[in-house]
Order: sequence, then C-alpha cells, then structure tokens
Amino acid sequence: SWDQVPLAPPDSIFKLTAGYKEDSFPQKINLGVGAYRDDNSKPWVLPVVKKATQILLEDPNLDHEYLPITGLPAFTSAAAKLVLGADSPAIASGRVCSVQTISGTGANHLGALFLSRYYEFNGDKKVYLSDPTWVNHFAIFRNVGIEPLTYPYYDPKIIGLAFEQLLNTLKTLPPRSAVLLHACAHNPTGVDPTREQWSQICDVFLEKGHYAFFDSAYQGFASGDLDNDAWAVREFVKREVPLLVCQSFAKNAGLYGERVGALHIVAPTQEAAARVKSQLSVLARSEISNPPAYGARVVSLILDNPELFEEWKRDIKTMAGRIIEMRKELYRLLTEEFKTPGNWDHIVGQIGMFSFTGIRPEQSQALTEKAHVYLTQNGRISMAGLNTHNIRYFAEKLDKVVRG
Ligand code: PMP
Repeated sequence: SWDQVPLAPPDSIFKLTAGYKEDSFPQKINLGVGAYRDDNSKPWVLPVVKKATQILLEDPNLDHEYLPITGLPAFTSAAAKLVLGADSPAIASGRVCSVQTISGTGANHLGALFLSRYYEFNGDKKVYLSDPTWVNHFAIFRNVGIEPLTYPYYDPKIIGLAFEQLLNTLKTLPPRSAVLLHACAHNPTGVDPTREQWSQICDVFLEKGHYAFFDSAYQGFASGDLDNDAWAVREFVKREVPLLVCQSFAKNAGLYGERVGALHIVAPTQEAAARVKSQLSVLARSEISNPPAYGARVVSLILDNPELFEEWKRDIKTMAGRIIEMRKELYRLLTEEFKTPGNWDHIVGQIGMFSFTGIRPEQSQALTEKAHVYLTQNGRISMAGLNTHNIRYFAEKLDKVVRG
C-alpha cells in the first residue's frame, strides 16, 4: 500500500497557477507563469512557427520514423551555431559535440549526468549554483548524485548583483569546481553581469580552472537580439574556458510543450569531442532512446531558411519589446503617477522575462490575498503577465502594499 511513500508538497509554481484558476475575480493577474503572454494575456504562437508548421504539414515525405539517438543532425548543428556563433572557432575546429535533449531541463539533466559520470571532480561531486537560481537546478543535480551548493549572486540591499562577493567566492572555491552560470536573463532575479563583469568572472574561471556549466534558456529574450544574449557564452569559448551549454527553445520559439533543446559540450580537441559524444549517446539511449522529432524539425526549418530566420528574429523582438515596454510603463506608473516610496530603477534595469521587485514575502502574500495578484513569495514577477489592460491595476495594488 506504499505506506513508506511520503506525500510530496505540490510544486509552488503549479500551486500558484491552480489558485489563480480557481479565483473568479475578473481583474485577477497571474505573474507567476514563466511563459510569454500577449497583450491580451493569451499564449502566443509565433507567426514564424505557424509558417514552419505549415511547411512540415505539406511535406509529402514527412514520416514518423525515429530520429538518431543524438537527435536531428540539421537541428543540432544549427542550434550550436545559434548559441556559439556561426563563426565559432570551436565549431570550425570540430570541438563541439551537440546532442538533442528534452528541452532545457533535459539538457541540464544530461549535462549533469555526464559530469557526474566523467568529470574529474576535485574531491566530492559538487556543483555551485547562483543564490538564488531556478529551483529545479537543485533537484536536477541531486538526482545524479552531485551535491548542489550556492555562490552569492543577488544582493537584496541593492536589488542587484552581489558582484564582489560573487567574484571573491569563485576565487576561494577549490580549483576545477563546476559552476553553473545563467547565460542571460537570470531566473529568478532578472539581474545579469555587465560585459566588464563577465570578463572578470571569466578571468577567475581561467585562473582557477573552473568548469562553466552554462544554462541558456532565454537567448533573445533578454535584449531582443540573439547574438547579444549569447555574448557571455561566446566570450568564455573564445577564451577557452572548459564548458558546456544547455539550450532551450521553449521561450524564444514559444515551443514550451514541444520540448526542443540541446546540450553542447565544447571539448579541447576534435578527438575528445568524438569520445564525449559517444558517451552522451550511450546515456541518451538508456534514458529516452530517441528525442522527439516535431519541435526539432520546426526549429531546424527556421534556423536553416534565411527568410524564416529573419522572421523569427522579428518575432523575438516583438516578445522582448513588449516586455521592455511593460518594464518602462510599470516604472513610470510607480515613480511618476503613484509616487510609490522607494527606488524602482531595478524594474527597468533588470533583464528578461522576470523581475525581482524587492518586496517582502508578506507583501507578496498580501498582493495575492487582497488584490488577486498571483506571484511567488520571493517577490518575483513575470513581466509577460503584465499588459496594457492590467498594468495600472497592478501598479496601484503594488503601491498599496508598499505603503503598508
Ligand atoms: N533553465 C532555466 C534557468 C529556466 O528558467 C528554465 C525554464 N523555466 C529551464 C532551464 C528549462 O525550461 P525547459 O525545460 O522548458 O526548456
């Protein structure tokens, strides 16, 4: 009767969504959701994705055979170019091995599993995560026997990057530590290092021989520009920091449920890349046998067709642009209209889908209980949940809880 199985608590984000769904208040707002919404709070199927889907549907040769274990080759190679750059020296020298994964989560898992099996850890298996980070990172590493620890990242006093503490901690970690970095649009804080800060972080990685585990779930979403958002990853590759990149197409292509992603491991030589790939293939075989085909076909059509690629970039600008507009409008409402006490510069300074408002857990709770605004206790809001119809209501309620 499974008496030994304890009841697990529900996932906090899913619990939040359930609460929102049950709420019958007409002006309720869901700011917990980690998916893009259009100005009418609706999911948005990217026009370029619609086009690519149509092309697939009309292809008389389309079948439902298995993909190779490591995925659709046209997809994985185009995906590597997207994140590492079409002119990447690592790609040119055949040092990149790429495997299709179950979106970004699967890439994180496969990357973690590979490290657990083959990385020469300095002592016990440990990984260092930013404090805070996407909560799933903890479980993903624990699942493969790697203990997750944290390094300082966010300073609530400045509602910004704890840069000195971050850098000092990286310097004091044992040499060759595995450290997870968010490639751009840090989740949950929306706080990214500047290029100058990234360069200094890179210096420490090189000095200490640390391994960079890049998680890239929001390329294009931070600035609206795919190349700009991949800058840190490319800088680390250029400077030859040993690294891997977990890539997701959930957000930037709006393909959440199709589970399109890839893991790219940059090896020191072409021959090492071949060995690494052979082992990734063995691991992938035992876990999923073959990755799902549909989403990878859609993305590979978009990446390989110059016209569709240009259209995709415009769609990404539409999403990133709307989010940036919402940041500006929220900032304007708080500072000019409501004259809300406190400094709100971080609302426009932060990047990507999420924003750390800096409000306290009891204030977040009051927003939910009194104003029907659903957000996580840590004060994180999804900017994609705001739109021209609900932003004034939200700003007014936020102003109220801040005034207490
Ligand atoms: N990494 C980070 C930092 C994320 O925020 C997410 C999505 N919430 C993911 C990875 C993985 O998402 P998916 O598996 O849907 O690609």
